[in-house]
Amino acid sequence: MLRFGCFVFAALALLSNQATAQTTTSQCLTASQYASKLTAALDSLHLSEVQVISNDIAQHCPSTLSPDIEVIADAATLFTFIHRRNNGDSAQQAFNRLLLKDFTSLPRRQQAAYYHLMALYSLHTGEYKQALSISHIISTELLPAALNAADDMAAINLAVADIHYEIEFYQSVRELLLPLLTHPAHYVRVRAASLLWHIPQTRQQLEDTLAVLNDYSALPQTLVKLHALEALVRQALEDNGQQAAHTMLEEAYILARELDANAVLIRLYLLEAEHQLTAHTAAQLLAFSTEQFSLKEQLPVLKLEVERATASQDWQQASATLQQAVALNQELARNNALAREYAGFQMVSQARELEQARQQSRLQALAAEQQNQQRLIYLLALVSAILALTVLTLLFVKKRRAAVHFEKLANTDGLTQVLNRRAIQLFARQVADRSKQLGQPFVVALADIDHFKTINDTHGHDAGDIVLTEFARRTNALIRQQDRLGRWGGEEWLIIMTNTRLDAVDGLFTRMQEEIREITAGEHKLTVTFSMGAVAGNGEQSVEALVQAADELLYQAKHSGRNRLCKGGD
Ligand code: GH3
Ligand code: MG
Ligand code: MG
Repeated sequence: MLRFGCFVFAALALLSNQATAQTTTSQCLTASQYASKLTAALDSLHLSEVQVISNDIAQHCPSTLSPDIEVIADAATLFTFIHRRNNGDSAQQAFNRLLLKDFTSLPRRQQAAYYHLMALYSLHTGEYKQALSISHIISTELLPAALNAADDMAAINLAVADIHYEIEFYQSVRELLLPLLTHPAHYVRVRAASLLWHIPQTRQQLEDTLAVLNDYSALPQTLVKLHALEALVRQALEDNGQQAAHTMLEEAYILARELDANAVLIRLYLLEAEHQLTAHTAAQLLAFSTEQFSLKEQLPVLKLEVERATASQDWQQASATLQQAVALNQELARNNALAREYAGFQMVSQARELEQARQQSRLQALAAEQQNQQRLIYLLALVSAILALTVLTLLFVKKRRAAVHFEKLANTDGLTQVLNRRAIQLFARQVADRSKQLGQPFVVALADIDHFKTINDTHGHDAGDIVLTEFARRTNALIRQQDRLGRWGGEEWLIIMTNTRLDAVDGLFTRMQEEIREITAGEHKLTVTFSMGAVAGNGEQSVEALVQAADELLYQAKHSGRNRLCKGGD
């Protein structure tokens, strides 16, 4: 079965290279015919074949596409955009439509292919959370199910590895791809090697990878060949083989232009600019529009723009572009932090998931061997049932953990890790409801750091961030377990003290003053004070009204000299 599968693929890969013109049919094919053409073209990264399928659908199918064929057309559009960076609007529309589709009834190879494209598109536009959720579906639901189907497994491993590579989850990429270096299909070996080349862990791994890449010339004119060439150019530059690098670079440029593969062209231009190989690459890069660059690629391009503006002494432009670059850099850092956190969490659940699936497939093999032994089969059936139950339970626990994890992300302030405005507001409402039922008083206190702007202006925004983080950490350590601190806005904080009378707030205020008085930021010891307004609630007033009252008292505290507490209405 495996051999047959490989044969079909090898044949398809060979045929599709020459058949670009002939594959066009004179009538609209069925969805499953288009789907198998498309998955084969996507597997072998055959850009022109994908284009042929798109054109064929556009020419021969009714202008209002059936939902099944629309999925295929949309997937082809996304693939083409990812590699050609053209028709951004159509790609966005295709992506939006795919997001609404339910793929669960499709063969898992197709599901994986479509999810893969959607994840890559999300990464291109910087929608990391979306990309990660999509990749989670592939690695936890499709990958374990493909364990016994070698061809599906290779295609799905390549898809997951592609996404994990983008989010820099390299350990997983190696685990997925190293076994594929000896895969029977040439394009699979080279696809694996093109990614692994960037992240080898040992000398041996690098050599194995290079051995596969060096064998690129027999490949058809597809992106697989181009990606191999790209890696070899980089290797030659690392080895200081300028001549070899130039020769292969030329070959890569010819193929990239033939395929109209702008994504690779952009990377090659960036590579040339980085190594200062030629002077004109900067101009070629700046000729692309912003949407044609992925979020990650925009940073080096902005750097080039700053250099150009500086060289032509256009200081205003240089400084505006620099600011843009700083903001983008921050966004990328946030994306990476999110991806790393998620990847760690995913690694644990993925390992467990795969182990579970492996156990299950071992048991299935056993059952096939000893089919004549009825008793064993009964036993196995029983074991499988227990196992299935365990899998279901694990799946449930894992889903819940994912939900809890994302809920925590949604309720937490990114900088200070205390509750964000939405979450503290929700908590306050719950306390108010309970207070009304049980007749217990509670306290709503609003604190605001004094002259915080001066801290930012004098010592910089990073110092300001340290003050905010420390304020949150120290205050959080002072309040009782049943109380909560939340970030209400910039440097304003809401504290909810449950089952407490208003006079208890004096003690808290004094302890906070002592704790917060001195905060070290870098080499500076900063003197920090804050003002606070506090009111008591009994569940009769709305939370909004209580916060409003606390805000008015805070205003009084500020106006009567700051560094003090004003209380009202017990
Ligand atoms: P006052 O004593 O009247 O409260 O003076 P203030 O300077 O603290 O008041 P204002 O509300 O004008 O200043 C708040 C500043 O907080 C302005 C804003 O730039 C800064 N800020 C808001 N969020 C952040 C943040 O996340 N980090 C840093 N470093 N600064 C922030
Ligand atoms: Mg302030
Ligand atoms: Mg303020």
